[in-house]
Amino acid sequence: MDFSVVDLSDEDRAFQRELRGFLGAVVTDEVLARDRATGENFDESVHLALGDAGYLAADYRSEAEGGFSAVRRRIWELEIGRAHTPWFHWGTTAMVAHTVERFGSPELRDEVLPGVVSGRLRLCLGYTEPEGGSDVATCKTRAVRDGDDWIVNGAKMFTSNAHNAHYVFLIANTDPAAPKHKSLTMFLLPLDAPGVEIQPLRTVDGDRTNITYYSDVRIGDRYRVGDVNGGWTVLRGALDAEHGTVQRDDDGLQKIAVMTEHITLMAEAVDRIAALLGTPDAEGHRRVDDGAVAHRLGRGIARMEAAMSTPEMFGRVAIAQTMRDVSPDLMDLLGAAGALPTGTPGAADDGGAEYVFRLAGPTGIYGGTLEVFRNMIARHALGLAPPVTAAR
Ligand SMILES: Cc1cc2nc3c(=O)[nH]c(=O)nc-3n(C[C@H](O)[C@H](O)[C@H](O)COP(=O)(O)OP(=O)(O)OC[C@H]3O[C@@H](n4cnc5c(N)ncnc54)[C@H](O)[C@@H]3O)c2cc1C
Repeated sequence: MDFSVVDLSDEDRAFQRELRGFLGAVVTDEVLARDRATGENFDESVHLALGDAGYLAADYRSEAEGGFSAVRRRIWELEIGRAHTPWFHWGTTAMVAHTVERFGSPELRDEVLPGVVSGRLRLCLGYTEPEGGSDVATCKTRAVRDGDDWIVNGAKMFTSNAHNAHYVFLIANTDPAAPKHKSLTMFLLPLDAPGVEIQPLRTVDGDRTNITYYSDVRIGDRYRVGDVNGGWTVLRGALDAEHGTVQRDDDGLQKIAVMTEHITLMAEAVDRIAALLGTPDAEGHRRVDDGAVAHRLGRGIARMEAAMSTPEMFGRVAIAQTMRDVSPDLMDLLGAAGALPTGTPGAADDGGAEYVFRLAGPTGIYGGTLEVFRNMIARHALGLAPPVTAAR
């Protein structure tokens, strides 16, 4: 790995200043407070402002198509994270839009893509079902052909941001008699179609997600993405992007792993905690002078730094596991007030460690659980044989 510093040109520095100023103006304290209260990870005014200013289009497009250079893309990702921009769902919208661009009909591309880059249209993911999400191909939601239309029936679990989105990238079974990877078709289903119901669901970290129900939803064939029963081919690329297993560029400037924003939040909390533990109390006593405290803090920081420097799917596992293991230790070092959430009077470190602790659970679940990622590492990176089920 190359840890060398990247020299920014004057133009890139100006871009960074301008972007920082822009985010400072749109990601206001009210936006952040609302995001904390609702758990939406989305703010329409911010999203539209970024669209109007051309940032979404620049992020969506490759450099060859007029998008950000590699350096600016890196600056963009870092500044977005540093500003705590309610932002997680743009990645989903962009990933689905790229898939529609590749596999969708010309009418569908025309209907969707301009609105995506302007910020007016948002797209969400409808893979997981109430009976299980790890094995995405085991899909019970049915789509049945009816003339030029499809009739969709079923339910999807954890359809995050559906209530702020306009379409769901939905996996449906179109041939129950076929082997599971040949029975699937992808659709970009308009969420305002009659028969769609969206019900809210809050997670332990305060995130808002949804259960979505589809009852005799009729959509035109133009909303199909890719071939009938060819959904697995369409889905593969999108899943690779979500898993962070896509081919990396040689410049070393790409985000090192999926979910690095989460460990950046942890790093901010750790900085505050280290400062608190190093501050003398009324008797001049610093908690960090206790060897056990220093050891535990240092061990946590070392693990965090290692996770922040671990690439690709290894990094994703290291990030979530480190958050899960280290955040309880940080709360313990802070004492009872470390368990109070952000905004509560008396909360140590303004609830930073407590939030990381709650965020750590879902971080190791969405987009694939830690167990599933460990299996993928074993199979695809280490070349191990599939797990053997003991014969009875
Ligand atoms: C906050 C949040 C937001 C989400 N957003 C979305 C979204 O927008 N769209 C969407 O489609 N989904 C979304 N998901 C769903 C997420 O992708 C699934 O939760 C995840 O894939 C796991 O599926 P599951 O919850 O059904 O667990 P299951 O698949 O039922 O797994 C249950 C347990 O079994 C283990 N397990 C399963 N299979 C294996 C295996 N092969 N080897 C070892 N262990 C295994 C799992 O690790 C887990 O511990 C979201 C989830 C959360 C928590």
